[in-house]
Amino acid sequence: MRVLLVEDHDELRDMLGAHLRHAGFATDAVGCGHDALAAVETVPYDALILDLGLPDLDGFEVLRRLRAGPAAALPILVLTARQSVGDRVQGLDAGADDYLVKPFDMLELDARLRSITRRTERRPEAAPPLGFGDLQFHPATREAVVDGRALALTRREAALLEELVRGSGRTMVRDMLEDRLYGFAEVFTGNALEATVSRLRRRLAAAGSVVAIETVRGIGYRLLAASRPAE
Ligand code: CA
Repeated sequence: MRVLLVEDHDELRDMLGAHLRHAGFATDAVGCGHDALAAVETVPYDALILDLGLPDLDGFEVLRRLRAGPAAALPILVLTARQSVGDRVQGLDAGADDYLVKPFDMLELDARLRSITRRTERRPEAAPPLGFGDLQFHPATREAVVDGRALALTRREAALLEELVRGSGRTMVRDMLEDRLYGFAEVFTGNALEATVSRLRRRLAAAGSVVAIETVRGIGYRLLAASRPAE
């Protein structure tokens, strides 16, 4: 899941960004409203965390522009230091899905973020599990099951597996996978995608799955299912 964090306070932005990445959200962080609007134009985010007190545009104005334009249905969590009930109501009226009043607990941030993205997902409870080989992937819970046993996956490994399973054996282009899984800052820090692929391969092998991830040189990755050996 890829998240845009909009917060002008440098230390708070760094701290929140680090926390979100650690929690498995691919996170881009910007410090003003114009950068936020530009980022949303170019990247298909799954959620946005928006501080209302920004140096260039009022947060309410950013919200209104997002809702009128490229982000009509994007889950948005508003951060506000403003204590009054009026501001919170105005935030929700302007199109926020939820709000958090500063200071807040990081665990509450995670919980609210999960909640607003769940709410706006396309009826995840109704989504049937996706199957490939002996593997089942449940989109609603992001759980992967092999032979009735759940795999212990990090959030990012689960996100990668979901992309590959949805590809159903087609080659998934690495640029697209990086866009879906990582923030800008992370893509340029080395072989993040390769590392996640390697870990996911080990998990599948450890679970005894017949499913393997094949590298398609110069293009990307795809799933393969070996036929199960006769027992
Ligand atoms: Ca601020």
